[in-house]
Amino acid sequence: MRNLLFVTTLFLTVFLLIGCEDTPAEEEHDTHDTLDIYYMNDLHGALTPDEGGMGMARAGNFLIDEKEQNPDSTLILAGGDMLQGTLISNHFYGENTTKIMDKVGFDAAAVGNHEFDWGLEKVTRYYTDNADAYQAEHDFLAANIVYEGTDTIPEGIEPYAMYERSGLNIGIIGAIGYGLESSILAPMVEDCEFKDPVPIAEEKAEYLRSEKGADIVLLLTHAGPDDLNTRVSFFEEEARIDAIFNGHTHQERIDYLGDMPAIESGSNAELIGHVQFTLEDGEIQNAVANNLDENDDSRFDTPHPDVTAIIDDYRQEIDHLFDPVTQADGNQERWHLADWMARIMKKSTDADVGIHNYGGTRDNISDGDDLSIAKLYDIFPFDNPVVTSEAPGHIIQDLMDSNNYAAKVDIDPDETYKIATNNYIFHNERNSLEALSENIIHKEFEMFELAVGILDWKADTYGRFDTTDAIDLGYYDTWFDPEDPLEIE
Ligand SMILES: [Zn+2]
Repeated sequence: MRNLLFVTTLFLTVFLLIGCEDTPAEEEHDTHDTLDIYYMNDLHGALTPDEGGMGMARAGNFLIDEKEQNPDSTLILAGGDMLQGTLISNHFYGENTTKIMDKVGFDAAAVGNHEFDWGLEKVTRYYTDNADAYQAEHDFLAANIVYEGTDTIPEGIEPYAMYERSGLNIGIIGAIGYGLESSILAPMVEDCEFKDPVPIAEEKAEYLRSEKGADIVLLLTHAGPDDLNTRVSFFEEEARIDAIFNGHTHQERIDYLGDMPAIESGSNAELIGHVQFTLEDGEIQNAVANNLDENDDSRFDTPHPDVTAIIDDYRQEIDHLFDPVTQADGNQERWHLADWMARIMKKSTDADVGIHNYGGTRDNISDGDDLSIAKLYDIFPFDNPVVTSEAPGHIIQDLMDSNNYAAKVDIDPDETYKIATNNYIFHNERNSLEALSENIIHKEFEMFELAVGILDWKADTYGRFDTTDAIDLGYYDTWFDPEDPLEIE
């Protein structure tokens, strides 16, 4: 037995030595059987499991391990809308989320519509040579976002990027959904236009194959699947796309259009998408797509310490926002809170009527609940500034009749009233408020700030919170001087 072991060991050693000298081991390793693409879309700042998904520390534990084990055959992609939606990410304009994406090993992210929420520069500064901002290590892609009437893509955004994995050149084209400008607040999208991504993707795919030596071309989008995927599936020859990554619609979805897989992976870190290409001699044999949830791999059970450290670091800075300011006196349902916000906007701007949307009110409060600024953020998570204008009564009546909450007055349809609302309602194309308004004033403050100010004042004055109290601006009165507004237009 011993002899056999010795002989075997000797034989192996000799074989390995010969192997080292004669065969260039590196080339051997370049021939991969697979190319693995991992994918996440619409994270919406859900860094911790509080937001319903698995959180980035657990999702990251899986992704970091995959990339460490197979660095030469793994790509990690993001489908846009990664940063906006939670207090911890929004408070830092997504800097922490961007850092975590780098730590986890993301290679590229598509630009989502919510990337415009704070003005595009707040996000693109991570991708430009900006000494004052964190500099992202991954690419930020959208081939169809241009300044209106030009072919110029905003600085920090690239139309495509090339990567070498599994011994192949992989071209990734980014795109945002056609017409998604309408889901963005008009002043924020400014002078940008989202062109039809389909002809642009076709032209770029052909270019990447014929000019850049791409062996595989992927389309990374912040766009829903249906129309886009069907049209892309008709691309031929050099222009063909090998897989589409969808986003924006938050669906868990996998389709095959011919051989081409298309995947969307929910939202809020609920799922990790996986597209695996099987390769033979550098040719794709087939491609299989899957969505993995937290039960599909034990690595999702453990938070990665490096990601946890980044989350904790930033969380410490905003700890005070989680401190209880006061307590709720009675249950405050969502409609109470929507109505409360409408009354605050009316009062703080000296308007005739205030309007807030029920959909912009996302949580309720139970009797005795501790109220913190973080809790207020759960209720009003949108960074919407307040807008006032003068508008005809019939438009205001329409708004009051359609699932909005109003600090009501009796409206004469033929009269003109001063209305205060959030800029989401103001710019929403489903109503004609903006079109029929005059004397439009974009206020410097957000409705969330108003709520924080009043909560704070109430805590000091009454030590309790009840939305049915009369709105009293207290010492915040001076913040909101209607005679001294900030005029943007
Ligand atoms: Zn979106």
